[in-house]
This record gives sequence, structure tokens and C-alpha cells, in this order.
Amino acid sequence: MKIQLRNVYKNYKNVEAVKDLTVDIEDGTLVCLLGPSGCGKSTTLSMIAGLDTPTGGEILFNGENFTGIAAEDRDIGMVFQNYALYPHMTIMENIAFPLKMRNVKKKERIEKVKRVAKIMQIEELLNRKPSKLSGGQQQRVAIARAIVKEPKILLLDEPLSNLDARLRIELREEIRSLQRKLNITTIFVTHDQEEALSISDKILLLNNGVLQQYSTPKDMYMSPKNKFVAGFLGNPPMNFMCGTYDSGKVFVESGNITLPLPVEILKFTEEFKDKPGQAEKCTLGIRPEDLVLCDRDEGIEGNIISVQTLGKEVYLNVDIKGLMLTACTSWENNYNSGDKVYLRAKRVYLFNK
Ligand code: ADP
Ligand code: MG
Repeated sequence: MKIQLRNVYKNYKNVEAVKDLTVDIEDGTLVCLLGPSGCGKSTTLSMIAGLDTPTGGEILFNGENFTGIAAEDRDIGMVFQNYALYPHMTIMENIAFPLKMRNVKKKERIEKVKRVAKIMQIEELLNRKPSKLSGGQQQRVAIARAIVKEPKILLLDEPLSNLDARLRIELREEIRSLQRKLNITTIFVTHDQEEALSISDKILLLNNGVLQQYSTPKDMYMSPKNKFVAGFLGNPPMNFMCGTYDSGKVFVESGNITLPLPVEILKFTEEFKDKPGQAEKCTLGIRPEDLVLCDRDEGIEGNIISVQTLGKEVYLNVDIKGLMLTACTSWENNYNSGDKVYLRAKRVYLFNK
């Protein structure tokens, strides 16, 4: 089912939770709704679910206006962070509950429950009570309960935030493959940029209730439209610094020193307005992996302040005449704090000052 939001607003007493949101979510795709806490993700999801009414604008399903339609009349399955399973019911009864509400016959209920239980790999848990299940198992049950009615839309609000890191990765891959298998239009809310980058067809990034960018993970990472988007994706985050752009050349400012920075690729973001023939103050952005170590005559000089290992990558915090930048390297390069290094930039993003 295609979902369209047309100039959607949601105001609470003194908060504008969602402002003028217009977006198309294509049928059969998985879209992550991403952004910091309080940016309006859950509010947006609730309006799509019909649990909340927009203050303005329209929500369409397959081109039909559903704005005022009640939640139970929308073909939607939902999973929340705090999955509330009914404690007195078995897992079988929990999953069957939405079917029972719709007066589906017992035999058919059992068949359907068994089918989704198989998909979610929880067949052996059907006779247990929720209290006997781990957090990951309970969340599988919650997903099974959401899809048992075979809805056209699946909405998940931070469904994995209560789980430990390893299980989170495992379950997000499962949700992704389930979504593909069922070909169900899915909106997955998360504040975790890595989670969004790994499972989405498209990411919808919000900040303060305002859409920042809506694009594929790759586009969002490689071609951020503004500084917020650039800074929100990536860990460790992009380095930002004051600089000047002048006819294809870039200079870094550190204190009152201006250093020419060797750059391979210059990326003009949508927010940066180039005034030809004129030097322009700007904010420069360089991702740690784009800040590369080089020979003395190719780069600018800095001193390593600290070395940080994150999984298989090694990050160097480098001081360039008072400017602190993070560069990425690998284990085989044995750098230590105090070492002198030379840096150049593979890719530099230009933002408004
Ligand atoms: P997110 O899910 O991205 O963390 P929410 O959509 O829950 O953010 O909230 C967006 C903003 O709207 C926040 O400032 C929040 O405090 C406010 N808000 C959400 N629900 C209500 C409500 N029922 N009454 C008043 N303010 C609300
Ligand atoms: Mg929320």
C-alpha cells in the first residue's frame, strides 16, 4: 500500500510536533523514520496509524484520503517499544487475539498463528506464557501478532531499543527479510542512524518536526543536503570546521591561521550557495574516513593527541594548530599519541557558515 503525507501538521498545546510534512512512501518499501528524541517520529507514526489526528494536511493510502478514518478501519499492524503482551494469555492466544477480535473461526486462527509463528521462529513457544520468554522472544511475538491479520502496512516504533546490541542486529535483519518476503509497506522508527542505514530502502530524517532529507541511505550518507543531516549520520561524526571557499580551492581556519587544504572531491551541499569569483566563508565538513594520512609534501601537518580503537577501525584525534580533527586508519599503521602526521582530504562538504 502506498502511503502519502500531504502538508501534515501536528500541534499540541504549545509544541509544533510535526511541521508541513509531505512525503510519498512507495508500496512494498521499508522506510526508516529517523531523528533525535523528540523530533516527531512517534507523532508521525501515530497519525499514519490513525491513533492521532493531524492538525492540518492529509494522509492518503493508495491515493484515497484516510485522514479522518479510525485506526481499526485502517489495514495496519503495529509494534511498539514496550510490547505489551497479555500476561495471562499463552503466546498462541496473544498472537490470535487480533483475529479473535475480527471473529475469525478458531480453526483458521490456529492455522494463521502457526504460519506466522513459523516465519518468526517461535513455534515452540506457543503454549508458554509471556513471562517465560526472553525480551527478544517477546518482541518476535509482538511482530507475529502485528502481521497475523496480514495487514497492508506495518508500523514499528523503536521495536528493538529494549534489546541488547547483538540481538538488535539479528532482529533488524529478520525484520528486513520478513518485510521483503511479505512485500509489506513498512515504517520503522528509530533514533539509531546505523540501524536506519542498514535496513532502509529510504530514510526519512526529521529534526524539530521538520523533514531534513528523504532519500536512500547511500544518498543521505554521501550527499547530505545540510549540516544537520551530515552530522547525524556517521560514527564517529563528520568533522566540521570554519573555512573559506575560493574558486575551487578550500582553506581551513584555525585560530587566526588559514591553511590551504588539499582536496580530491568537493561536494556542494544544497544549502551552500556559491558566489562565483568571490571568496566565501563557509563550514567545511570532512568524514573521518575521508581524512587520509599522506606524505609530508601532500598534506597539512598535525600532531596525534590520542588514538581510539572502535572495532576494526582506528581513529586518530589530530591537532592541526589548535584545530582538532578525527581521522580514520587501520590496525596495521602503528600510530601513537605524540606522532607527527600529514593529512589531506579525499572529500570535503561545503555548508553555509
Ligand atoms: P519522538 O518519537 O521523535 O521522540 P514525539 O513524536 O514523541 O518524538 O514527540 C514530538 C514532540 O511532541 C515532543 O516535543 C513531545 O514532547 C511532543 N508531544 C508528543 N506527544 C505529546 C502530547 N500528547 N502532548 C503534548 N506534547 C506532545
Ligand atoms: Mg518516539
